[in-house]
Amino acid sequence: MAEKLQKLVVVTPARIAYSDEVRMVCARGADGDLGILPDHAPLITALKTDVVRVQKNGQWRYLAVSSGFLEAKENRVIILSDAAEAAEEIDVERARRAKERAEERLRTRTPEIDIIRAEAALLRALARLKAVEMARGRH
Ligand code: ATP
Repeated sequence: MAEKLQKLVVVTPARIAYSDEVRMVCARGADGDLGILPDHAPLITALKTDVVRVQKNGQWRYLAVSSGFLEAKENRVIILSDAAEAAEEIDVERARRAKERAEERLRTRTPEIDIIRAEAALLRALARLKAVEMARGRH
């Protein structure tokens, strides 16, 4: 029997970063890790900046998602985020540069440097690098 699926849509201000019928969505919610299968109870949660894993036909796909919100309801999962990229879309060199820039800012910590902003940029870069690594290893 075909496995039951649910719709996943990942929306950013710029575009629909992902839209497909999938089996499972794993994400890091503000209150802990989530694994959402079809017929999940209705849920709204904030998301941490991290990798969202999506399973379909036994295959995993990986998306880097900047902090945002997730709603699950009636077999539809909607993620709203400032930025989201599938692993294949990620420019690794750009993410490495962003990581180094953020680390340098956090090391320097002059009064002009916005620490919260630098920390958020570091987390985005780390999530992007992690998504690429996970997609390469398929773990
Ligand atoms: P950078 O400093 O390299 O711009 P950033 O974390 O500040 O990184 P964001 O503001 O999160 O970038 O994203 C701006 C846009 O660029 C978004 O549309 C995002 O999807 C895209 N983007 C950011 N970094 C990458 C990357 N390494 N590969 C592909 N797209 C990226």
